[in-house]
Amino acid sequence: MPVPLAPYPTPPVPFMPPNGNQSHLVCSGCRNLLLYPVGATTVCCAVCSAVTTAPPPGTEMAQLVCGGCHTLLMYVRGATNVQCSCCHTVNLALEANQVAHVNCGNCRMLLMYQYGARSVKCAVCNFVTSIGASPSTEQKVSS
Ligand SMILES: [Zn+2]
Ligand SMILES: [Zn+2]
Ligand SMILES: [Zn+2]
Repeated sequence: MPVPLAPYPTPPVPFMPPNGNQSHLVCSGCRNLLLYPVGATTVCCAVCSAVTTAPPPGTEMAQLVCGGCHTLLMYVRGATNVQCSCCHTVNLALEANQVAHVNCGNCRMLLMYQYGARSVKCAVCNFVTSIGASPSTEQKVSS
């Protein structure tokens, strides 16, 4: 016999928890890191008064440091490269835990591997498939 679920008591807290519903973005004007409540569509910077459009709620943002000018860049998680708005360097947004897929070169089994890996060994047939065999990088034959 199923146990009836008791309704969740509503917590008697009239305001948001301190850290729960805040997000942050980089000001489009002075590039300061701004905190804003989740759900806000625009954020007005207290330093330079520039209005920065906030990403829609639910968008997972990630950060990286620009390889060119070392500015902190925000980008939508899942993007593969991020162009810096300061120095226009295109940074590869490769997260350590990101995985990619490749088909085994022998049995066509779909294999997962971590970004940055040079080769993947197939668990089924033990064939080693090399990653990044794109013609643009290594196999450029100039005749
Ligand atoms: Zn600003
Ligand atoms: Zn930069
Ligand atoms: Zn295989």
